[in-house]
Amino acid sequence: MSRRCIPEAEVVFTATVRGEVGVCPACSKPSVRVHSRYRRTLTDAPVAGRLIRILLRVRRFFCGNPRVPAQDVR
Ligand SMILES: [Zn+2]
Repeated sequence: MSRRCIPEAEVVFTATVRGEVGVCPACSKPSVRVHSRYRRTLTDAPVAGRLIRILLRVRRFFCGNPRVPAQDVR
């Protein structure tokens, strides 16, 4: 997690979900087939006059197990 301060304006935290492998919630097998990445921005209440913003980078995976129906794996 890195932190970057923009004076007088806002505090931005950037968080990345770690690891190159997702784990399927259905079969617990790892998946490396990334099919998309997206960013989520979480904005919190202002603290001491500064806006707190969290940029979360999230990857989504496909399960490689043919017995698991196609679904998103995170
Ligand atoms: Zn699976």
